[in-house]
Amino acid sequence: MKLILLGPPGAGKGTQAKRLAEELALPHISTGDILRQNVKDGSLLGKEAKDYMDKGLLVPDDLVARMLKKRMDSEDVKKGFILDGYPRTINQAKTLEEILKEKKVNIDFVFYLDTSDAVIIQRLTGRLVCSSCGANFHATNMPPKKAGICDKCGATLFQRTDDKEETVRKRIEVYKKEVASLVEYYKNLNKLRCLSADKEAGLVLNEIVKFVRAGNDSIKV
Ligand code: AMP
Repeated sequence: MKLILLGPPGAGKGTQAKRLAEELALPHISTGDILRQNVKDGSLLGKEAKDYMDKGLLVPDDLVARMLKKRMDSEDVKKGFILDGYPRTINQAKTLEEILKEKKVNIDFVFYLDTSDAVIIQRLTGRLVCSSCGANFHATNMPPKKAGICDKCGATLFQRTDDKEETVRKRIEVYKKEVASLVEYYKNLNKLRCLSADKEAGLVLNEIVKFVRAGNDSIKV
């Protein structure tokens, strides 16, 4: 099964992708996570990407494409994947198509997680991330048991630099500029399934899993 999760920052793509990856035993590929790891490691790619990321802008296509190609060559991806954060533009959708064509595989479904601006801002500006295991918390929606400390591994929590309100607004603006054509692109390929992601994460996950397992068209756009 090869799935793409599409949606604005804060739609819960990361949360859904992680849970789906467990549920369907597939690798979760997040271009944002790979980029953040590169920034943390101080790699050349990380150094080139950091400034764009801090400003809420897209990292140039060629950098992200090289990074994605490398990840797609890994052995574990042969059984399928859940792609989160890529593609973000038509250009990237075409790059992805080329990568997959070489491997003679196709995307099965693209899930569009529709989310309102108010929900996005509330979710992202309150998000807290573990500096060690990457687990996500939220200052009010899902607070850790002990303030500033990860429930899972005990490491410290931090706010992503691009989760400051001003940067979140910029990210929404960047996203909206590109998404309409991307939605149209996958709709025309008859791959798009649209659902509301304003609701609680567990309910959204159930809808996706139900769809993937049953293969029905009940939430088709
Ligand atoms: P995310 O974790 O998906 O919200 O991504 C965080 C940041 O990483 C974005 O705001 C971009 O700066 C960068 N990024 C992630 N994925 C991509 C992509 N497909 N194309 C360009 N930049 C990306």
